[in-house]
Amino acid sequence: MRRTIPTMYEDHDAIDQAGIGATAHDATPGAFEEAVRRILAEVGEDPDREGLLGTPSRVNRMYRELTRGYQVDPDRLINGAVFDVGYSEMVVVRGIEFYSLCEHHLLPFFGTVNVGYLPRGRVLGLSKIPRVVEMFARRLQVQERMTAQIAEFLRDRLDPVGVGVVVEAQHLCLAMRGVEKHGATMVTSSVLGTFRSSRETREEFMAHLDRDLRR
Ligand code: ZN
Repeated sequence: MRRTIPTMYEDHDAIDQAGIGATAHDATPGAFEEAVRRILAEVGEDPDREGLLGTPSRVNRMYRELTRGYQVDPDRLINGAVFDVGYSEMVVVRGIEFYSLCEHHLLPFFGTVNVGYLPRGRVLGLSKIPRVVEMFARRLQVQERMTAQIAEFLRDRLDPVGVGVVVEAQHLCLAMRGVEKHGATMVTSSVLGTFRSSRETREEFMAHLDRDLRR
């Protein structure tokens, strides 16, 4: 039987099955633009109206950019920036801005990521931590998973004594649809190692963040 499912859904299924890293290179030329034209028509617009003529290709380029985290090679990302040091006090990087897309509505959610870890003789260059955040943010995401992925990545690459990640974000899919009060934020956290097992360590981390989260 001939399949009548629109191309855009087939692409989506292909991404789900292939997993991370199999998007842009497998794209069919023009398929994205055609899908955007269909959306424009479905919402009652005329895709051939002058103001909309360039929209499909602009949206295409934008989505490639906003999802380029799939294309990032994590080894290259941190290459040369993991240092052996004697330092064993908590490292905290607060207020890392991020922008992501919720996978349920393809609308932005955005806010700040706060990262802390207790090194076991190995640290990551400070400038790389925002890059790690961006690698996971520039994908279709849910906030809980993004939070856990950042924490697990740092755990796997640095083998720290413990790591904690707290993400505070606003979701446009909530704000724009009036599901929740405007300006409501969602806070998620992921704590591993001593950040989970030691209340003292966790409280030290949270004390570092308190100023931000109470604003
Ligand atoms: Zn959503």
